[in-house]
Amino acid sequence: MLGLCLVLLHIKLVKLPILRAETVLHFLNQGKDLVFSSDQLNHTTPTMTTQLLELNDAQKTIYTRSNIRRAFPEFDDTEVTGIYLLDDVCNIVYRDGSNVNYPTQPIKEAFQSYTNRLKDFFSYLGPNYRGPSIWHDNTYIMFKGWSYVHTLGSSTANAKLQAQWADKFIRLTDQERLKAILQSDQTDLGYLVAPDGVRIPEQLADEETTTEEETTDTTPVNTEPYCSCGSFQRQILNRAALTHEIPGYKPQCIHLTWFRKYRELLCKRTAIRNTSASYTPEKCVAWWYVPPTDGISNGRFVLLYTKHGAQAPLKQWRTYKPKEIFTQHDAWSLFDSMMEAGYLPFPGVALPQLQTQGKTL
Ligand SMILES: [Zn+2]
Repeated sequence: MLGLCLVLLHIKLVKLPILRAETVLHFLNQGKDLVFSSDQLNHTTPTMTTQLLELNDAQKTIYTRSNIRRAFPEFDDTEVTGIYLLDDVCNIVYRDGSNVNYPTQPIKEAFQSYTNRLKDFFSYLGPNYRGPSIWHDNTYIMFKGWSYVHTLGSSTANAKLQAQWADKFIRLTDQERLKAILQSDQTDLGYLVAPDGVRIPEQLADEETTTEEETTDTTPVNTEPYCSCGSFQRQILNRAALTHEIPGYKPQCIHLTWFRKYRELLCKRTAIRNTSASYTPEKCVAWWYVPPTDGISNGRFVLLYTKHGAQAPLKQWRTYKPKEIFTQHDAWSLFDSMMEAGYLPFPGVALPQLQTQGKTL
């Protein structure tokens, strides 16, 4: 069987053969005794005999040029004609016939950390800093942050459509129809996510009146997290092969990562409020965000804080580290550190007495 899969490769003379995905998986299981020594892997001669494995669809999502570069910054991706596998080594073939090998493990790790990366706080807020909205079946609608990519972001067609639809989505009950509206080429409004799994509709007593907290006793039929985005769906499709490549693999995406971080922020915020007398802490922080004018560079993130309660007049608020320039990329860590110090965050726009300050930004 292995003989059928063995490729006699004459570099520069023979075109690299394409192996079927099933064959590749077989190789990955059985081919260890055919792997070359590290000395052999570091160079190639025109007469060298080796086995190069064409990537299957799952491996193509892992061993991309971008992920190889993330794992190995020195990786030269110019003139690459092919990426192949030699068991636990990724073999890069260049146009001139030369090739370089990299261990697969760091590339797998780069793939996972990139897939799970945390995007900035404003990436998935809807109009007026709206967070994910609960929909049916234990799912949420997550908006793309169209309002915050540019100073005129809230005037874009996408942001206006979000504002128009945000409170109406709950009236829809058909998931496919909802996704078509959220993710069509024309709309691109956001995603449907279920960090705790999708609950089948029959298990819900009354969707209109049931809150998330009240339904946590009902075990969802599918406890696997879900996201409607293309990346997550591709991982579901290739799950068996991904698990073969990365044992214990669980599909993930940037939306689920962001959602969990946002929920963590809300929980911390609630905890601060609950530990204060009459739920009104004296220590408060108000924040503003001014998106970039060019839509490319960083925006400005500004915080004012007080120890005299949210209703304190403007003169009792101080700018947090006025000599430092904060951007959207600082928001998560600033929220974390302010809340650890016991400060309750508010969007500046929600505090009328601070509006003159907000207008100066
Ligand atoms: Zn997603």
